[in-house]
Amino acid sequence: MFILNYHGVSERVDEFEKVFQKHLPLAVFREQMERISKKKNPLSLNEFLSQYKDRRLKSNDVLVSFDDGYKNLLDGAVGIIKSLNIPAVFSIATERVDAPSFWADEVERAIRFSLKASIEIEGRKFDLSDTNRRIKTLIEIKSWMKNMMLEENRRVRLLLLSVAGVSGDEHNLEKFKIMTWEEIKDLTNDSYFNVVHHSHRHYPLSKLGTAEKIVEDVALSVKGLRKIGIEPEVFVYPFGRKEDCGEEVKVVVKDLGFIQGWTVQNKPVDYKDPFEVYRLEMTGDNFEKIFQ
Ligand SMILES: [Zn+2]
Repeated sequence: MFILNYHGVSERVDEFEKVFQKHLPLAVFREQMERISKKKNPLSLNEFLSQYKDRRLKSNDVLVSFDDGYKNLLDGAVGIIKSLNIPAVFSIATERVDAPSFWADEVERAIRFSLKASIEIEGRKFDLSDTNRRIKTLIEIKSWMKNMMLEENRRVRLLLLSVAGVSGDEHNLEKFKIMTWEEIKDLTNDSYFNVVHHSHRHYPLSKLGTAEKIVEDVALSVKGLRKIGIEPEVFVYPFGRKEDCGEEVKVVVKDLGFIQGWTVQNKPVDYKDPFEVYRLEMTGDNFEKIFQ
C-alpha cells in the first residue's frame, strides 16, 4: 500500500508549478481521486494506524496526505475528497501558520520577481535572464540552501532578498498562503480528516544546530497543535528525505510521545520502522505507481 503525499491543489498553475508540481492542477487532482475511489481502498488515519500495528494493511489500501496546510486546498480539493468519501491527513508546521513566510517560498519570490538579469551571492553567480533560467536557478538555489544549517540558511536568504531587490512581503502569491488556525480547527471537526504534526519551523531537524534545538522545535509543534486539541500521534519530518530522519531525530520524536514518523522516500509502506514510514510524492508519474 502507499501513503500519497500531496501539497497544494490549485486552478491556477503557473510555469514554475509545471516544473515543481508542488501545487497540482485541480482537474488532475480530481481525476486522481476519482480513480482512487473506483479502484482503491482509501483508509482513514485511524484505520491505517491500527492496521499497521496489526500488520493487516492490504496492497489495495491507500492513505491520502497533504503537507503544509496550503489554503488553496479549501478551494476545491477538500470538497472533492469529501464528495468521494476519501479520508485525508493534513500535516501542519506550526510556525508557518502564525508567520506564513516560508524560506523556500521567499526564495522563489525573490527569483521570480527580481528585476535583475543575474545576481551574485556568496561568490556564486545565478542567471535570471528568462523564465527557464529562473526556474533552473531556483532549483539550484533551493537545493543549495536546503543543506545549510538553519543560521546560514537565514543569512543567505536575507542576502538573496536584498540582492534580488524584492522585499519579503511583496508579491505574496496566492499559492504560498497557509490556512489559519480557525480553518485548521474546522478540518479537525470533520470525522474524515486528521491533522498531524509537521514540526514548528519546517526546517530539516538535523540542520537546526544542536540536539536541544531539535527537542525545542518538536516540543513547540506539540504545544502549538495541543491548542486546537491535537495530541502527538504521527510526526511528518520536514522535507522527509532519508537524511532528515536520522537516529538523533527519531529519538526526540519517540520521546515526545509520537507513535509514527513519516518520510517521503517514494516506496510502499513496510513494517521495518514505524519512525520511518514511507510516502509517495505525488509528482511526475508517481500516481501510476499505485496501480502497478
Ligand atoms: Zn512540508
